[in-house]
Amino acid sequence: MEVRLIGDPVLRKRAKKVESFDENLKDIVDEMFSTMYLYDGVGLAAPQVGISLRFFIMDSRENEGNSLTANKEKGKKVVINPEIIEFLGEEISSEEGCLSIPDIFEDVVRAEGVKVRYQDLSGEVIEEELHGYQARIFQHETDHLEGILFTDKLPIVKKARLKKDLNKLIEKGKNRALELGDKVKL
Ligand SMILES: [Zn+2]
Repeated sequence: MEVRLIGDPVLRKRAKKVESFDENLKDIVDEMFSTMYLYDGVGLAAPQVGISLRFFIMDSRENEGNSLTANKEKGKKVVINPEIIEFLGEEISSEEGCLSIPDIFEDVVRAEGVKVRYQDLSGEVIEEELHGYQARIFQHETDHLEGILFTDKLPIVKKARLKKDLNKLIEKGKNRALELGDKVKL
């Protein structure tokens, strides 16, 4: 799977609701996990692989020190049609990156916790509270489904400082989108 870069219009579209929880969706999710692990990411939203639908995967890989398999399952989620019902706790600034904006890492302010509702791969509705790193990933990935990137949330001064690098990436992303454009089917 090709990861779309900032500058690709698919990253700026509001993604559509997932209606069918079929084998095709499961196959896409499997492929997305492989792609995410390949690039050492902790989250990947469907628009980032050219699919304008409301779902993402995440693996916060928390609780290091436990057995590896336990770690993997703990923070690993397939999140479909997510909603943030409530923001919890205080606002915290912490460094983020994004597979669609390579080599740029900046502090972003987000709520420490979120109460969320989403569907899993079988379509079952799940409601839970997430905190810390998991809450941060959830908020970052949900933004992707609205066409929002973490660099949009930076203070103006930081944005200005990054402008040159971002513009370079945007050009690259646009060109790649043109090459890949026909492959976007959803
Ligand atoms: Zn991202």
